[in-house]
Amino acid sequence: MLRLTDGVWENWSGSSRARPTHVHYPETEADLRDAVAKADGTLRVAGAGHSFPPVAASDETFVSLERYTGLVDVDPDARRVTVRAGTRLSTLTDALADHGLMLENMGDIDEQSVAGALSTGTHGTGTDFGVMSTQAAGMRLVTADGDVVDLAAGDDRFPFAQVSLGTLGVVSTVTLDVVDDYGLRERKFPADVEDVLANLASHRERRNFEFWWFPHTDTALVKTHERADAGGSPGRLAAVEERLENLAWEGLCRAGSRLRRASPACNRLVAATFSAAERVGPAREIFPTTRAVRFNETEHGVARADAVDAFRELRSVVESHDVMFPVEFRDVAGDDIPLSPATGRDSTFLAVHAYHRREWEPLVRDAEAVLDRYDGRPHWGKHHTKTAADLAELYPDFDDFREVRREMDPGGLFLNDHLREVLGA
Ligand SMILES: Cc1cc2nc3c(=O)[nH]c(=O)nc-3n(C[C@H](O)[C@H](O)[C@H](O)COP(=O)(O)OP(=O)(O)OC[C@H]3O[C@@H](n4cnc5c(N)ncnc54)[C@H](O)[C@@H]3O)c2cc1C
Repeated sequence: MLRLTDGVWENWSGSSRARPTHVHYPETEADLRDAVAKADGTLRVAGAGHSFPPVAASDETFVSLERYTGLVDVDPDARRVTVRAGTRLSTLTDALADHGLMLENMGDIDEQSVAGALSTGTHGTGTDFGVMSTQAAGMRLVTADGDVVDLAAGDDRFPFAQVSLGTLGVVSTVTLDVVDDYGLRERKFPADVEDVLANLASHRERRNFEFWWFPHTDTALVKTHERADAGGSPGRLAAVEERLENLAWEGLCRAGSRLRRASPACNRLVAATFSAAERVGPAREIFPTTRAVRFNETEHGVARADAVDAFRELRSVVESHDVMFPVEFRDVAGDDIPLSPATGRDSTFLAVHAYHRREWEPLVRDAEAVLDRYDGRPHWGKHHTKTAADLAELYPDFDDFREVRREMDPGGLFLNDHLREVLGA
């Protein structure tokens, strides 16, 4: 549901707001084309509002696709499906399960809309898996003039649409390559962070591997996934435990934000409670976690070979701030999508978070100063301070993207102030 209160839209973390003059809720592609045709000034599509910077914000026309959802086509033999762009990932994976199918990989949550996730280069973890946009085989866009264009793998413009921040047109449907449904065994365990770094090669043999290091401690919480017979569902107990963990974390974060320099003590307390845990279930239930405690985040992809050095430098910078939230370490396979943060290089993504009631800008700035030294590319859906001039240095095909964008939307209908800053006009 669009987070619109008294005419003001707010994103998940509360860091981005807009007061649109027109809000459309299309139910068909014809409605969507009509909304685009009527728009004047700026038109942005709100996905699930889970991006941190104002990538979706519009003070003029806002389009929500929450009534434009569901599968359009399923080809189980080709393992290919077409889905309406507003479909949430959770709804998509449930619908895929009815056909014995599943996404090959996912990130931490399944709240995002399909088009929102793809537009910003959303990713999970695993050396064999690229950003989610690599799972796309086609996209149907409503362009600035209200026309419809089908782009598919092999089409010159398709790679530009795979990660576009929604600036080439409104995505109407997405065709995805999927896989047979599968189960996962998840293991979580605490470990000394330096031991984890020393044993990265063996951890990376797991299908999915990531860790969270808790600032002001030497403890990392490691999470791995391996294929397994799905058996039953991880069940209500796991869901209840997750809710309790979220409640305890919220309480601690609130208390910590009222006291100065409370993070070291709080984090040592939290790290002491970690224990090993294991669960097995369908991948669609194992991947997503509940993130009830709101935060702000920055995340940058660096070349995998630089990941350990970058992480170690980041450690000392993060510890110079009063931060409780962990630093996350995830691997993503390189790809050839022009605006994918993993374009042209196998990457590791390092993410820094701050509780939403605390100041996050200085932390983002300092973390970015470290990651800049490693040519870190910011996640488009997370906070960063980069401008088009900086990004042109980081993305070999940045100018090509800009040319395609200008061709497809010469009047800048799909640009807001933030996008003008990061992409240029
Ligand atoms: C709690 C939390 C956990 C997260 N976990 C991860 C993670 O594990 N991995 C990761 O990589 N990221 C993660 N993210 C970031 C998130 O995946 C991205 O920001 C994603 O873009 C959010 O999707 P959304 O549907 O909310 O899109 P929005 O944030 O609403 O929009 C994102 C962009 O897509 C555009 N857009 C949306 N729909 C369309 C459309 N139909 N046509 C054209 N443009 C469109 C919007 O205008 C905007 O530019 C997380 C964020 C949060 C808050």
